[in-house]
Amino acid sequence: MNIESASAVASLQVQAPYKDFDTIIIGAGAAGLMCAGVAGQLGLKVLLLDHAAKIAEKIRISGGGRCNFTNRDLDPRNPQTHFISDNPRFCKHALGNYTPDDFLALMAKHQLTHTEKHKGQLFCDQSAGAIITMLLDEAKQGGVDHRQGIQVKAVSKQGDMYQVHTSQGNFTATNLVVATGGLSIPKIGATDFGYGLAKQFDMPLIPTRPALVPLTFDGSEWTAFKDLAGVSLPVHIQVTGASNVDKTSFDEDLLFTHKGLSGPAILQISSYWQPGLDLRINLHTASNLDANFSGLKATSRKQLGNELAALLPARLAQQWLQSDAQLAALRERPMVDMPDKALRKLAESLHQWRIKPSGSEGYAKAEVTAGGVDTRALDAKTMQAKGHTGLYFIGEVTDVTGWLGGYNFQWAWASGYAAAKAMATETV
Ligand SMILES: Cc1cc2nc3c(=O)[nH]c(=O)nc-3n(C[C@H](O)[C@H](O)[C@H](O)COP(=O)(O)OP(=O)(O)OC[C@H]3O[C@@H](n4cnc5c(N)ncnc54)[C@H](O)[C@@H]3O)c2cc1C
Repeated sequence: MNIESASAVASLQVQAPYKDFDTIIIGAGAAGLMCAGVAGQLGLKVLLLDHAAKIAEKIRISGGGRCNFTNRDLDPRNPQTHFISDNPRFCKHALGNYTPDDFLALMAKHQLTHTEKHKGQLFCDQSAGAIITMLLDEAKQGGVDHRQGIQVKAVSKQGDMYQVHTSQGNFTATNLVVATGGLSIPKIGATDFGYGLAKQFDMPLIPTRPALVPLTFDGSEWTAFKDLAGVSLPVHIQVTGASNVDKTSFDEDLLFTHKGLSGPAILQISSYWQPGLDLRINLHTASNLDANFSGLKATSRKQLGNELAALLPARLAQQWLQSDAQLAALRERPMVDMPDKALRKLAESLHQWRIKPSGSEGYAKAEVTAGGVDTRALDAKTMQAKGHTGLYFIGEVTDVTGWLGGYNFQWAWASGYAAAKAMATETV
């Protein structure tokens, strides 16, 4: 190289905007960790930041400490079936490109094993902590600079470079990935940072609400059920009360609590419920009570209360009869002497219990946050914000909410992977 061209290169180097990293990821939870490891191993220089003192607390506490990390029932042709979003098909591409089998392969590489439980739910045999260690190992292999307990004060953009102002100084990068999750469980680090950043870049938001959350009840219709805390039973459940409600229904267990209703049936339906709507619950799914009662009326001299207690949890059966003056008066009558009309009414009330929640236990108890960054403003293949080159949103901060059962982690893995691959293609 002659002196003239060497000095030209030197002057170009001086003029080029200084870049500390290819990618800065804010949020070292499920999505951020996955994204960091993949991006680092694909050759990007990555900084992964999180304000919490402890890493990935939501992974650690998930699945009773065993992390329900994905779900075998995820439909590879229609993966969006198990997700809720204003833009339902958005998640299909990323979920199709990073599947439960891909995550299982990663676990196998780290000698982690799993057990399948209820409805395709896969849990880590070792521990949720082992999943975190695995993701940290992957990030380390990718040379990721990982910093925990660092406050992000502001983000700005200069030219095509993102600048992140933090408690440990300012850092620049061509890509900024927002992986700060939703609002659920603020006491372990959830913030609205991601939504604020989306607003800063004029991106639309879908209103947020707690999801996968216990529901609360008040008023006179709830008085009868106050003392049933601890009673649990299988039910069929759906939302009702408006012509345009989503007809999705679930067959899961319901649990009475001191505050209202919980259990998988309620957590699942809470993601579809909106204030003002009712729930319709079939409290006896094992048989048709009309037919059952007709048979008992022909043969049984046992009292109504005793027969009902054989079909439902005994405390619920007793309370159900007590809560209706006419049925309470008939409680000790032998089945053979029961009026048909009263039995029909009883069967219908149990098969179609309609009750209106007054609210939910909120973000303090919600497993996830529904709503978030409107996915119409993101590219479905890359998670990049449309009109903002280098800005990516992944995981729960986006308006993609999975069903209970490992689907939310699968979205975190898949969206993190999609962004990492796209950045590696576009940056290197
Ligand atoms: C109790 C509980 C149990 C769950 N169990 C399961 C389960 O078994 N299976 C399943 O699929 N899903 C489960 N979930 C849901 C799942 O944990 C989330 O959907 C998933 O963690 C979302 O991943 P994420 O990376 O988008 O967000 P998170 O994992 O929440 O990570 C976000 C990260 O961003 C950091 N952060 C937030 N704000 C800032 C800021 N201002 N500056 C810097 N960092 C910030 C946070 O500290 C956090 O580390 C559970 C959730 C809860 C609360």
